Amino acid sequence: MEMIKVYDPYDNSIVGEIVKGTKEDALKAIATAQKGYEIIRKMSVHQRATILFKTAEIVEKNKEEFAVTIAREGSKTIKEARKEANRCVNTLKISAEESKRLFGETIPFDSFPGGESKLGYYYRQPIGIVLAITPFNDPLNLVAHKLGPAIAAGNSVVLKPATVTPLSAIKLAEAFFAAGLPKECLQVVTGNGSELGPVLVQDERIRMVSFTGGFEAGKEITKIAGIKKIGMELGSNSPVIVWDDVDIDYAVESCVSGAFWAAGQNCIGVQRVYIHKRIYNEFRDKFVARTLKYKIGNKMEEDCDMGPMITEKEAERVENWINEAVSMGAKCLCGGKRKGAIMEPSVLENVPENATIHKEEVFGPAVNLYQIECMDEAIEKANSLPFGLLAAVFCNNINLAMKAAYGMDCGGVIINDSTDYRLDSMPFGGIKNSGLGREGIKFSLQEMTEPKMVCINMMN
Ligand code: NAP
Repeated sequence: MEMIKVYDPYDNSIVGEIVKGTKEDALKAIATAQKGYEIIRKMSVHQRATILFKTAEIVEKNKEEFAVTIAREGSKTIKEARKEANRCVNTLKISAEESKRLFGETIPFDSFPGGESKLGYYYRQPIGIVLAITPFNDPLNLVAHKLGPAIAAGNSVVLKPATVTPLSAIKLAEAFFAAGLPKECLQVVTGNGSELGPVLVQDERIRMVSFTGGFEAGKEITKIAGIKKIGMELGSNSPVIVWDDVDIDYAVESCVSGAFWAAGQNCIGVQRVYIHKRIYNEFRDKFVARTLKYKIGNKMEEDCDMGPMITEKEAERVENWINEAVSMGAKCLCGGKRKGAIMEPSVLENVPENATIHKEEVFGPAVNLYQIECMDEAIEKANSLPFGLLAAVFCNNINLAMKAAYGMDCGGVIINDSTDYRLDSMPFGGIKNSGLGREGIKFSLQEMTEPKMVCINMMN
C-alpha cells in the first residue's frame, strides 16, 4: 500500500500519513456506499438526527484536538482553527435540526379537469450516493457542510478530502462512526484528486457530486459528470465598497481581518477594496498601519495573527503575482516578500486591470485598494470580473447601501462588515464562475434530495 505524508507547512514536520488510494479503492468505496445507501435510506429521521447530534457532541468534547489537527496540517493559526472547530459543531447540530424539517406539500390535483377524484402529496426522498470533494482551506467545517446534510437527508457518502489536509476529515469520519453511523454509509477515499476524481465523478452509481474547490477542477468535473446533480462551491475575487460616511477605523479592522484570515486562503477573503476618494488616503494609511502590526509566523503560538500559506509553491505564486503587478505600475504599500511558505500580508494600490492579481482569485494574503467617486462606478467595478460569491459594502446611507446590495452581482451581500462572514445556516454559494447551487444546511438538504410524488385515485 502506497502512503502519502502530510506535512505542517510552517516547519515541514510530518503530521501524519494517509493511504494513496487507487482507482480500485475508489470503485470499492462506491460499491460499499451503495450498500450503505440501502441501510441509511431505511433509517428514521430521528435515528439520523441522533447520530448527527452525537457526532456534534464528540467534536465538541474533543474541540482542542480537532483545532490542533486543523492548525497543524493546514495554514490556520490555532485561534482560527478553534473557530473552525466551533463552527463544525454548529454545522452538525443544524444538520440534525434541519433533518426534522424536510417537508413536502399536498398537491391540488382537482385544479384541472380529470383530477377531481385524485389526491396526493410529495415528500423529499434522498438522492442516493453523494460524492463529496473538499478543499484544503477549511479542512473540517467544509467537510461537515457536506456530510451533515447528506446524512440528514438519508444519503450515503463517498468523501474525497484534499490531499494536503486529509486528517481533520478522517477525524470527523471517525466521530461519525463513534456516534453510530454504519461504516458503509460513509466511505473516505484519500489520494490524488486528478487521478481518483474522474473515476469517482463519472461513475453512474454516484447521484450527486458536491464539490468545493477551485474553478479548474470544477470545470473538469462538470465536463465528465454525466447525468447526475452537481453542486459547485468555487472561488471568487471578493469586492468590498467603502463609502465616505463610515467609521474608518471599524471598516479598516474588518477589511484587514477579511483579507488576511487563513493567510488569505479563503473563498470569501477580501481582495478588492473600492474606497470613496474623500476618505481614500486616511483609509489606506490606517489599513497599512494595521497590517504592519500583524504577527506572522508560528501558527501554534497564541498571539500569532497569520500563519504560512499551504505550500511554498503557493506563496511563490502570490509573490510572483505581486511582482508582476509592480512591474506593470502598481505600488506595493507593505509586504510583498516571502520566506518559505510564509508570505507577508501585502497591500497594493494603483493595480492595473490587466494584472493577474486584479483579474484572478489571489487566494493568498494580498489585497488591492482602489479609489472610487460614486456608487455607480463602485458597483460597475465590483461586477467587472467573472466571479460572484459574496460582496460587501460599508455605508451608513441606507439608500446607497441598498443600491449596492441590489446592484452587485453575487450570491450574497454583507452590509457594514467585510465579505468574510458566513453563518453556517445561511444560503451560501455563488453565481458566474463562483459556483452552482447553494450550501447552508437547509439549502444543501434541498439540493441533496428529490421530490417524490404520490397520487391516490379515490375509488368511491
Ligand atoms: P482544488 O485544487 O480545486 O482541490 C479541491 C479538491 O478537488 C481536492 O480534494 C482535490 O484533490 C480535488 N481535485 C483536484 N482535481 C480534481 C479533479 N480533476 N476531479 C475531481 N477532484 C479533483 O482546490 P483547493 O486548492 O483545495 O482549494 C482552493 C479553492 O477552493 C479556491 O479556489 C477557493 O476559493 C475554493 N473554495 C471555495 C469555497 C466555497 O464554498 N465557494 C470554499 C472553500 C474553498 P487533491 O487535493 O488530491 O488535489
